[in-house]
Amino acid sequence: LTVLGVETSCDETAAAVVRRSADGSTEVLSSIVASQIAAHAPFGGVVPEIAARAHVEIIDQVILEAMRAAGLGFSGLDGVAATAGPGLVGGVMVGLSAGKAIALARGLPLVAVNHLEGHAVSARLGAEIAYPFLLLLVSGGHCQLLEVAGVGRCRRVGSTIDDAAGEAFDKIAKAMGLPYPGGPALETLAEGGDAGRFALPRALLGREGCDFSFSGLKTAAARMADGVTDPTDRRDLAAAVQQAIARQLADRTAKAMVGYARQHGPGERRLVVAGGVAANREVRRALTALAQAQGFLFHAPPLAYCTDNAAMIALAGAERLAEGLSDGLDAVARPRWPLDEAAASSNPTHK
Ligand code: ATP
Ligand code: MG
Ligand code: FE
Repeated sequence: LTVLGVETSCDETAAAVVRRSADGSTEVLSSIVASQIAAHAPFGGVVPEIAARAHVEIIDQVILEAMRAAGLGFSGLDGVAATAGPGLVGGVMVGLSAGKAIALARGLPLVAVNHLEGHAVSARLGAEIAYPFLLLLVSGGHCQLLEVAGVGRCRRVGSTIDDAAGEAFDKIAKAMGLPYPGGPALETLAEGGDAGRFALPRALLGREGCDFSFSGLKTAAARMADGVTDPTDRRDLAAAVQQAIARQLADRTAKAMVGYARQHGPGERRLVVAGGVAANREVRRALTALAQAQGFLFHAPPLAYCTDNAAMIALAGAERLAEGLSDGLDAVARPRWPLDEAAASSNPTHK
């Protein structure tokens, strides 16, 4: 199945073509991501109205560019997948409408994809990973642990009770005067730093359950940032923040692994991380070590597919089409859409 994916839920306008073979292997034929970072940077965060307008301006070009790079005409497609939420709804409508227009004009099936399901399958763009797996989803708006049994079959076992991990990176980076988006900037600043010099709160560490909390860390780090101006001190504070976030992610994941291992045999114990924060090397290091210690295989997406992209949306669409799932042209854009409800979204196609 060859599927065009379209992604406009936040501040990247993206289109991609992905081919998924019957044996489950995946090939990214093209992946175009037009970032709006420059448009939002002066405001220190994403401005929804600016985002929606910017998507409208370039969505056609981005889709045509993805088709050209894939070397295909629309007749070479088997389906169109577009993000239908969750996200900034003005932006979601732009991509979803573009996807519907192509599906209608070319008589192709449409898949209205949950953006989080896209992140959930993103590691499968780099390697074949069989279901089931334990998923740590760490993005700008979400921080969750999920047991993923198959396409659209998820059970949430933990979530953040306040901020998402990416949000914590972004807000602390902002308090330290780093440019938006803060996660990558903070990682760069932290390079070579001594994480042990600043003591930060260790929220929930060792506590029962698999929930996350970053607000205490955020407040403490922001307060410290005010008094830290020396370049070496700033580097060490950034390293401490990064380590505190990575440790909490690993600690909570360790808790989820216990329950997961009880239900699944050794051959099925896989840990997958996804979302923008999965690009962070300290986070990957902590999770790699944890997985090794617990006898889990560990998978992370290729770096290019951690943050928002359309290849993951195309793959999620292809997987749904392969299961006989697609959506009507009346599919709506949803600002909120929990991943564990994603199964209810698609209707079986009657061919
Ligand atoms: P969601 O997927 O929840 O709707 P989103 O789409 O905005 O949110 P992503 O694109 O998956 O989120 O990820 C963006 C987030 O990842 C930002 O918070 C960004 O700071 C963070 N991020 C990206 N790269 C890194 C990195 N190297 N280290 C830490 N954080 C990072
Ligand atoms: Mg983004
Ligand atoms: Fe995302």
